[in-house]
This record gives sequence, C-alpha cells and structure tokens, in this order.
Amino acid sequence: MRLFEYQGKELFSKYGIRVPRSKLAGDESQALSAVEEIGLPAVIKAQVLSGGRGKAGGVVLVRTKDEAKREARRVLGLRVGGEHTRALLVEEASEHTQEMYLSVSLNRGRREFVALASRSGGTEVESLAKGAMVEVPVPLEGLTDDDSYTLSTKVGLYGRTSSEFRSILLKLERLSREEECELAEINPLAVRFDGSLVALDSKVVLDDNALFRHPEFSQLPPEDPLEGEAAKFGFAFVRLDGDVAVVGNGAGLVLSTLDLVSDFGGRAACFLDLGGGAQRDRVEAALRLVRGLPNARVILVNIFGGITRTTDVAEGLKGVLSEAPMALVFARISGAEEEEARALLSGAGVAVFRTPQEAALAAVKAVSR
Ligand code: GDP
Ligand code: MN
Repeated sequence: MRLFEYQGKELFSKYGIRVPRSKLAGDESQALSAVEEIGLPAVIKAQVLSGGRGKAGGVVLVRTKDEAKREARRVLGLRVGGEHTRALLVEEASEHTQEMYLSVSLNRGRREFVALASRSGGTEVESLAKGAMVEVPVPLEGLTDDDSYTLSTKVGLYGRTSSEFRSILLKLERLSREEECELAEINPLAVRFDGSLVALDSKVVLDDNALFRHPEFSQLPPEDPLEGEAAKFGFAFVRLDGDVAVVGNGAGLVLSTLDLVSDFGGRAACFLDLGGGAQRDRVEAALRLVRGLPNARVILVNIFGGITRTTDVAEGLKGVLSEAPMALVFARISGAEEEEARALLSGAGVAVFRTPQEAALAAVKAVSR
C-alpha cells in the first residue's frame, strides 16, 4: 500500500528525518489558513498516489496570497494520472542548491533490501546516466555505520552533508524495517546552502502482507464525498473547474456536450455520465449530486432517449426540482416519448430544447450574464 506524501513525512518525522514545516488542507479555505500559518513563499502540493505529480503541475511555489488562492484552487481540481487531488499539503519553501536521491527498497530478484543513492535526484531521476545511482546491500540485521559510510563515499559526499546523509540513511533503513516497507524513498533529498539536508518528498510503500500489523495505516483520508456518491451509482464523474454542470447519458454524448460548452465560450463544472438506460432514480441521484457542486451555476442536461425513456428523465428532473431550489436547468431531451417529456416539464423550471447546441448555448449565456 502506497502512502500519501504527508503520511510518509509523518513517518520521517517520527524517525527523526528532517522535513519542511507543513500543514494538510482539505479545501481552498483550509489551504489559505495553512498558508497564513506556514508563511510565504510556500509550496502547494497535490496529495495523490500517482507518480509524475510535479510534471503534471501538482507541485507549485506560491509567493503571494493571491497566487496561493489561485493555485490552491487549481491544484484541488487537478487530476494526476486519472486520480483527483485528495488534499493539499502546504509546505514552507525550502531553498536548496542540489537535489539528491535516497531510498531503501526490497529487491525481490535478489531477495534482499538495498539502499540506493544518487547525487542528482529530483523529477528527472528516471533519466539519470548509468552509474549515477550507487547502492549498498542492506543486511537483515540492519545497516551498520560502516555501510552508511560506504554509501556516502560512493556518492561523493563530505563534511556536514556526509554526516547528515549517513544519519538519514540509518533512520530511513530502520523505518523501512520497523514499518515493514517495500520502499522508503526520499526524492528529492535537498542540500541546503549550509550543507544540511531536508526531505522534500516522500514515497513510502508498505508491504501489504504485513499491513495487519500496522492498523494505523488502514485509514485513508476521506474521498471527495461527491465522487463517493457518483461511485455508488456507477456514474462516470469528473469534477471540473467551470460553472456549467454537464449531465448526460453516454460518455461520447457527455464529452461532445463539454465541447459545445467550450465552443460557446463556457466552462464545464463537471462531466457526469449516467450511463445507458438512465432510470428515474439515477437521474435524480445525478441531479442531487451536481447540485452539490459549489462552483456550478447552471445544470445542462443532455439526454438522448434510445434505451432511456425521456419521460423517466423528465420525472426525475421534476422530482429533484421540487425538493429544493436548484441552479438553472437547461435540458436537451430527444428520443422516445419526448413530446410527453416536454409536456411534463412545462412550468417545472426547466428550459427544454430540441438540440444540444441550443441547450448548451442557453446555458452558457445564462452564466455569462
Ligand atoms: P513529485 O513529482 O511527486 O516527485 O514531486 P516532488 O515533491 O518531488 O516535487 C517535485 C519538485 O518540486 C522537486 O524535485 C523540487 O525541485 C520541487 N520542490 C518540491 N518541494 C519544494 C520546496 O519546498 N522548495 C522548492 N524550492 N522546490 C520544491
Ligand atoms: Mn519526488
């Protein structure tokens, strides 16, 4: 099981490995108060389990409050490798001169643990020249001071950097043994102007077979409640950062509706595909879900009734509209029983159109007013 960066850093701290001051934030306002507390400049980091976060724009330095606000919002809406940002880690920015790599990992082929290090780490670590990465095997009883000295010398460190490196290596190795990790990685391990070291990132993978001995890790931070709701109904749902919530049946139809919204100069607040055969209860669930999107100002429903009976959709729309006030709804409904569906919706607070173009245009116009 892979831990989030912030969980890995909590472990680092527990074992005495220096990490920057940081605070976890679940939403934009928490992020802003975290920035107040940490101070500027700060680094805002998406908490995701996928790799390549930095390159995907999930790690960003902010210098002003305005920038922090804008970037917190952007990173919260970001997806890295298909995974949405679960939370933000707001961290003090660490000035440094060099980025190294250090890890302790299980080498299954050799049936042993190995410590790997390189003078140059960071986001380009995969493309390091051959030989840049040096290693020492980790004995089952643990690394000795001599082993740590060997690795530090191979990396070519001296002075304060070497002594801190050796101490971090021994702590990381003890962490990986005691917490039963397949991988405990620090990349980058940053070298500061005074030669001291700080762990700017963590990647910790626990051995699943040993997880029962570490119940403290079984709880992941809560998912986005809306995504949880979407998953319950089997909707394909993606949060976006615009203000037109798009709901439809069929992934292709929803995607083309997003295109229409953007062609007309609007921005979608979400992608929600009900799937084929959308029944009344599913339509209702989808509308309640998008009603909970804080940034959505209108809802654009695009339903083509092939398998779906459009009267079902209309009943669903009407039902939800009668429960609570909702952002303006613009619907394109066509297909089986469409005349009956239109009749059902007359006077229900839904603007109904015959073509997706008309509905999308009306929705975009409504938010640009
Ligand atoms: P990854 O892409 O998920 O591995 O993200 P990292 O946490 O490793 O960050 C990517 C890059 O952002 C690092 O290699 C650093 O160059 C930079 N970075 C991360 N944290 C800081 C920080 O506190 N200060 C500065 N100056 N750069 C940082
Ligand atoms: Mn990294």
